Amino acid sequence: MGHDRPESGSYTFPAFDDHHPPEKDLIDDCVHCGFCLPTCPTYVLFGEEMDSPRGRIYLMNKGLTEEPMNDTMVRHWDLCLGCMACVTACPSGVQYDKLIEATRAQVERRYERRADDKAFREMIFQLFPYRKRLRLAAGPLRLYQRFGLDKKLKKAGIMSRLPARMRAMEALMPKLGKEEKIPEHTSPRARGVSGSASSPAVSSSLLLSGQLRDRTGPRRRGLRGRSTQEPGLLRRALHPRRA
Ligand code: SF4
Ligand code: SF4
Repeated sequence: MGHDRPESGSYTFPAFDDHHPPEKDLIDDCVHCGFCLPTCPTYVLFGEEMDSPRGRIYLMNKGLTEEPMNDTMVRHWDLCLGCMACVTACPSGVQYDKLIEATRAQVERRYERRADDKAFREMIFQLFPYRKRLRLAAGPLRLYQRFGLDKKLKKAGIMSRLPARMRAMEALMPKLGKEEKIPEHTSPRARGVSGSASSPAVSSSLLLSGQLRDRTGPRRRGLRGRSTQEPGLLRRALHPRRA
């Protein structure tokens, strides 16, 4: 999907400015052993070196030394999911998280995205982190599914004319059933979890299911389950707005 993204033609030299570029020392920690490659979902999917942690670090080094920031470079960094599977797999302790975080901030400042790319990204950032907005969007989508509009659009050939990203989103959309109301507080026993919440096993189970999260800590709207390395998220974390 990302590989056929239209290019903006943006070209910035040098690739990085002096405001927190990816650190050369951290880049040099990578010994190019390749242990991280099988753990990286984008490498497994595309089989392309530049879509692996090693390849992305190589591109960061190129950006620091000689190459301009351009479409190809940014596309490989954009395709990184930020899952950090490579960090735990790396025997040399490469801090890929710090590297990609610094790189992404530079990309947001120095790379000129196409208008449609900007709009798509803004739509993602304005919709998915906010549960109220998602709930609002779910209404029309439920009708869309109930009346079988997806099949009708496919039959009329309209779906195939939509941008690849929209088609992918449509294909990934879950089947939306009747909205389930989840109470503010739920009893662990009532939800099928027995034992004390203070036991590590039960705590992690609650944490993973989101139940513990709703009982503890401040509610930072728009940040649940997301990495602050995503562009603009740290700012939003520090200055949360109401959805
Ligand atoms: S990031 Fe780590 S595991 Fe991956 S190539 Fe570099 S040193 Fe090896
Ligand atoms: S964080 Fe990026 S580079 Fe590392 S494993 Fe995940 S997708 Fe691959």
